[in-house]
Amino acid sequence: MDELHRAQKAKEEIGKPSVFSKIIKKELPADILFEDDQCIAFHDINPQAPSHFLVVSKKPIPMLDDVQEEDTKVLVINNGEQGCQSVYHLHIHVVGGRQMEWPPG
Ligand code: C5P
Repeated sequence: MDELHRAQKAKEEIGKPSVFSKIIKKELPADILFEDDQCIAFHDINPQAPSHFLVVSKKPIPMLDDVQEEDTKVLVINNGEQGCQSVYHLHIHVVGGRQMEWPPG
């Protein structure tokens, strides 16, 4: 199944424990970089760049639409020159509004 088809099917899984919930519960293996009571960071199993890891909220928030006032974690951060960072004040990119492809640019 390609990435676009996988993404189109994924919403059907909302409400069930996600693969990331299983990693958090150590029911599935992951190459963990960091973990605290709020989040876990691990290497992406299918890296799209020499360094590619995920930071995941332990609270099972399906998507941005579901973020509550008290939730503060999020998505793609362009880091440094190779990451095309253009403003050196740490910030988070959220992209949407059209069909994306993966990996980005
Ligand atoms: O943005 P998207 O939801 O497609 O990202 C999910 C990411 O989770 C993918 O990059 C995929 O490689 C990664 N993944 C992982 N370990 C898993 C399952 C998925 O790192 N067991």
